[in-house]
Amino acid sequence: MKPDDGYIAYIVNPKSGASSSKLTGRQFQEYLVKKGFEVRVSLTASLDNACELATDAAVDYDCAMVVVAGGDGTVREVAHGLEGSDKPLLIVPCGTENLLANEFGFDEKLKTITRTFEAGYIRPLDLGSANGKCFTSIAGFGFDGQVVKWVSEQRKGHHIDYFDYVGPIWRTFWNYKFGAMKVEVEGEEIFNGRGLVFVGNISRYAMGLQILHHADFGDGLLDVCIYKCASRVHLLKHSVMTVVKQHAASGDVIYRQGKNITVSSETVHIETEIDGDPGPDLPMEITVIPQAVSVMVPEGAKPAGIRTRIVRAIG
Ligand SMILES: [Mg+2]
Repeated sequence: MKPDDGYIAYIVNPKSGASSSKLTGRQFQEYLVKKGFEVRVSLTASLDNACELATDAAVDYDCAMVVVAGGDGTVREVAHGLEGSDKPLLIVPCGTENLLANEFGFDEKLKTITRTFEAGYIRPLDLGSANGKCFTSIAGFGFDGQVVKWVSEQRKGHHIDYFDYVGPIWRTFWNYKFGAMKVEVEGEEIFNGRGLVFVGNISRYAMGLQILHHADFGDGLLDVCIYKCASRVHLLKHSVMTVVKQHAASGDVIYRQGKNITVSSETVHIETEIDGDPGPDLPMEITVIPQAVSVMVPEGAKPAGIRTRIVRAIG
C-alpha cells in the first residue's frame, strides 16, 4: 500500500478499549501519517453508524483501505459494511475479547499491526448471516446466550472487562434450564434435544477455548458444535473436555460443517448471542456469505491459545 493509492478510512469506536489499546490505536494512526498516508478518522456513534461509515468507505473511489479500532461488535459492523468490496480491512484490536483479531493472529502490540500493514498479506473472510443479521465469528445458543444477555443488561454503554462476566456466568451456571433445540444442516436434522449449540467461523472462542477447532474463516463453510447436555455436572464435564481439546471425539458431542444451518426450539425460549451481543430469536436461519471481505492479517500467524490469553488478560 502506497500513499498514492488513496486515503485510509480509520474507523474508531471511542467507547471500546482499555487505555493501553486506545494508545495503540492512536500510535498506529500517527505511524500512518508519518509514512505519508492521508488518514481520515471517523468516531462511531453506534454500531449501526460503524456499518454506515464502512459502507461509505467501500463505495468511495478515493479510499484505498479501511482500518477499524474497536472490539468484536464494531469489527463485525465494519466488516458488514464492507461486504462485497475488495478494499482491505485491518483490525486494531481494542475490545475485551477481540475474538476475530485473535483468530487472525493479532496481539495488541503496535509492532504486530505495523508489520502486518507493511507486509500487506490479504486473506478472504467469510461472514455469517443469522436471520439477515451479520456475524463474523460465532453464534451461541442457550447457556452463553443467557450470559451475554445479563452482561449486556448491566453494561450501559461503557467498556466491559472480564470481571463483568463473572457474575452472569455464575448466575447462569446455577439457574440455567437446559432447553431442547433442533438443529438442521443443509435441511437434514442432526440434533433434537437438550444441549448447547455453537455455529461459527473461528476456532478459538472466549478465553481461547477451541470449541469449533476445525473452523477456517475463509473456507466457505460454517462449523457447528453441539454439546448434548441437560445438567450442571454434564456441563462441567464438557467444559473440562473442551479445555483439554478432547470434546469433539466424545460421544455426546456432534461436530459438523455446512453452509445452511437452522436452529429452532418448539418448547422453550432460548437466548442467543452473535459475536458477544444478544442475537435474534429462534428459529434462526444461518447462512454463509463466502469471501465477503478482504482482511489484512499477519502472515503465518496462529491464534493465541488459552495460556497466552490468560497472560494477556491479567498482564
Ligand atoms: Mg469457515
